[in-house]
Amino acid sequence: MSGRTIALVTGANKGIGYEIAAGLGSLGWRVGVGARDQQRRENAVAKLRAAGVDAFGVPLDVDDDASVAAAAELVADHAGGLDVLVNNAAITGGVPQTPTTLDPATVRAVVETNVIGVVRVTNAMLPMLRSSAAPRIVNMSSSVGSLALHTTPGVDMGPVPTAYLASKTFLNAVTVQYAKELGGTNILINSGCPGFTATDLNGFQGTRTPRQGAAIAIRLATLPDDGPTGGFFDDDGTVPW
Ligand code: NAP
Repeated sequence: MSGRTIALVTGANKGIGYEIAAGLGSLGWRVGVGARDQQRRENAVAKLRAAGVDAFGVPLDVDDDASVAAAAELVADHAGGLDVLVNNAAITGGVPQTPTTLDPATVRAVVETNVIGVVRVTNAMLPMLRSSAAPRIVNMSSSVGSLALHTTPGVDMGPVPTAYLASKTFLNAVTVQYAKELGGTNILINSGCPGFTATDLNGFQGTRTPRQGAAIAIRLATLPDDGPTGGFFDDDGTVPW
């Protein structure tokens, strides 16, 4: 490795993922732009490079075993290793999603991308992360996955799509289990919530900018060696599980 920090951001062609790539790139890091669509990926890489970021494209569909394996090979060949993985890619599966009308196919698709995709990418990248001096994994979650908030009297989370919110609860559980297994290593893994951010995901209804949404991921990607692991955080601090 060149001595510079290498990061990979999944779903980095737009929205919060793009701004995470831009933010990590502004630290002088090399940033892999993980994206499944060639044109959108190339456009994002070109835009990041024009802004001075040392970005490189990583063809990546988190739903696809072969794509993820090829992405790990590309990062190894191109960058020589990986220090930071931001699992940002996700889908809602469309709205509305009420429990009583939910299509099982929607649940499968959402869990495939938002949970299994994270496991698939993380495990493919782990051999490189284990060789890093300061490996960090950030799983982009959401406070809508917080069972504690959903069951707190007086807290109204609004009409959140059921499969989407449950996928984030599932993802948080996965984050905790990774942290337990990796507890004896130098790998720090945490869930982050960007807050309600104006992106394609919510028809640009969010009240935060994508750059604001990216801030928690950048903070968790740059944690010091004695930083937390197995936690759930937003810009205001700890989010209850
Ligand atoms: P977004 O604008 O819709 O971007 C989602 C990204 O994920 C896109 O780049 C998309 O690529 C990519 N993606 C989806 N499926 C993929 C797959 N199978 N393989 C590779 N990439 C895939 O959403 P966002 O708002 O920036 O969301 C980023 C993260 O923040 C997500 O994890 C989301 O759950 C979380 N979050 C967002 C909010 C919010 O208010 N926006 C709130 C809480 C949490 P394509 O362009 O190819 O579709």
